[in-house]
Amino acid sequence: TGKFFVGGNWKCNGSKDSIAKLVGDLNAAKLEDDVEVIVAPPFIYISQVKDSLTAPIQISAQNSWVGKGGAFTGEISAEQLKDIGCEWVILGHSERRHIIGESNEFTGKKAAYALEQNLKVIGCVGEKLEEREAGKTFDVCFEQLKAFADAVPSWDNIVIAYEPVWAIGTGKVATPQQAQEVHAAIRDWMAKNVTPEVAKKVRIIYGGSVNGANCAELAKQEDIDGFLVGGASLKGAEFATICNSVT
Ligand code: 13P
Repeated sequence: TGKFFVGGNWKCNGSKDSIAKLVGDLNAAKLEDDVEVIVAPPFIYISQVKDSLTAPIQISAQNSWVGKGGAFTGEISAEQLKDIGCEWVILGHSERRHIIGESNEFTGKKAAYALEQNLKVIGCVGEKLEEREAGKTFDVCFEQLKAFADAVPSWDNIVIAYEPVWAIGTGKVATPQQAQEVHAAIRDWMAKNVTPEVAKKVRIIYGGSVNGANCAELAKQEDIDGFLVGGASLKGAEFATICNSVT
């Protein structure tokens, strides 16, 4: 697989002041060379972050519109993100799937359009608690993956994030074994349904209550190639610790 990859998803948090402080802390942190780091601020702060970051960190959006811009009130297009120097976009986050109601198919289309506009994509999958308890974890993840696979022409610019919904923002991190099991299953699905080469290369990162204390054990797992971090990414020093958990 490629470089260890760590993303900070700031979600709908922050203000001009708190973000200036966070960027200052990130600029002061020492990040390892062999890790690729991105942060995803709310849209309206992307330019502020872009202009003030000196650390080797790329910028991601948390969402983008499904097609070309136009009469879509409240949306932001992939072209606009490129225009302001944003390089990545997170798509299919569970909060968009389950709170906003975005479908697998809609998410797949968004990924295809974003890639066409030369954005790189962090495509998220993950099961809800009741789905895990019903033994449907793999089915749910594979169905979400299939929607991406059916829509995108290439996986060169996609990172897969496995984020079990029950672990997001709950403090209930998946055990290293639970995460590894799903990551390995995702890689196996990719080998069978995309190509063995893509399966080998694609980075599969874990998200859900990752913090400075639990990242090292998770990072040791064979198929965990990085993290997507929510709450702990709002603290510069702790986020740097997670970035530096690269093994
Ligand atoms: P937490 O790290 O706050 O659990 O959020 C994870 C997440 O949703 C990252 O996209």
